[in-house]
Amino acid sequence: MNILDIIEKKKKGQKLSKEEIDYFVDGVCKGYVKDFQTTSLLMAICINDLDFDEIYNLTDAMVRSGEVVDLSDLGTCVDKHSTGGVSDTTTLCLVPILADLGVKVAKMSGRSLGFTGGTADKLEVFHGYKTELSTAKFKSLIKKNGASMVSPSQNLALADKIIYKLRSESGTVNNMGLIASSIMSKKIACGAKIIFIDCKYGNGAFMKTVKDAKKLAETMVEIGKRAGIKVCVIISNMEQPLTNYIGNNLEVYSSIKMLNGADNDLSKLSSFIAAKILVMDGKAENLEDAKNMVKNAIKTKSALNKLKQLVVAQDGSTECIDNPEMLLKHTNNFEIKAQSSGYLYQINTELLGDLSHKLQFYDNIYTRQDDVGFILNKRIGDEVKKGDLLLTCHYNKIQNKQEFINQLNSCFVINNKKRKIRLIDCVIE
Ligand code: URA
Repeated sequence: MNILDIIEKKKKGQKLSKEEIDYFVDGVCKGYVKDFQTTSLLMAICINDLDFDEIYNLTDAMVRSGEVVDLSDLGTCVDKHSTGGVSDTTTLCLVPILADLGVKVAKMSGRSLGFTGGTADKLEVFHGYKTELSTAKFKSLIKKNGASMVSPSQNLALADKIIYKLRSESGTVNNMGLIASSIMSKKIACGAKIIFIDCKYGNGAFMKTVKDAKKLAETMVEIGKRAGIKVCVIISNMEQPLTNYIGNNLEVYSSIKMLNGADNDLSKLSSFIAAKILVMDGKAENLEDAKNMVKNAIKTKSALNKLKQLVVAQDGSTECIDNPEMLLKHTNNFEIKAQSSGYLYQINTELLGDLSHKLQFYDNIYTRQDDVGFILNKRIGDEVKKGDLLLTCHYNKIQNKQEFINQLNSCFVINNKKRKIRLIDCVIE
């Protein structure tokens, strides 16, 4: 077999066999398929797509490329995943709620990809928090505290790790088959038997339309079925950032506020997903009961205390959980104001995510700044008067500030149409 023949085949839009996909994935891990050949094949896939057999075979090969965690001795474990959005801090709310209510959560979270945020980065806002643990430690923490949030081990779905990075650097992130196989390979390798996926659609998600999101959701549910795992997918809106806070410190702030009882889109979505999982895991008889259990866990602060326990267990500081306002402090900031009156009709969420990344990695791509980002002051559908505050930017350094400000201004469309956003579209299982 030869990688050039495989690239050539996909370039012509032909179907790759299981053996060819196995060869490619093995070559990526062992190094006999070079990075430039991988990105070339990825680009051919982006242009000509994969069919379901190819997607499943790619998923399966990526699962087998690394460690497969065995959680069976812990009983049924749950994992939750988001397909990626802006200001999506649902995991930080959900995991403590579920663990507090007796669900075992084995949560492996990635770093940010493209314009989207990553939970592993946000966890490091709790200074000292260790995201990299041995599998044995990960399992012992789930057993002891009900949950653990880690980044996947170096070896978990090894091929995905290599391919994920190359996709990010070669403009080949946005393909349904690549996204489905990337997500599902990690989830299957992680060992959970119930997987809940929050599939985002809208201008701040990889899937821009509900139709594409549903196709991705159905594909992931089908992959789960073939792999013998229960998968449930919610289709939720990402036409605007999930909360008004974008950036690692700011997003952690909004999740701590949620666990303190704040009522907003983040709390609606997290509570709904938590309730669905409680029913799937047999901890509640129906959705109504489950919703009440979630409400109570928040009201009594027992979910917030669970978050503290989970953070301490991984050597993180809980200072910002006790004093979330410290996450808002920043000396350098400027404001973006409305240039006309009307209703906020559209937010370019992907661009906001991109710009937030630029703030985070202003000096070199390896030093992440957590104390930067944006605070939004309006949501889609809100009435706006000329001169009203739309956004505050927290920054350390900006390469070309005027150009950056112009781009921020272009993120907001104001007109006379009052638009209503539906947060949750449907659930596919
Ligand atoms: N999340 C993943 O894990 N992989 C993708 O390709 C996109 C989002």
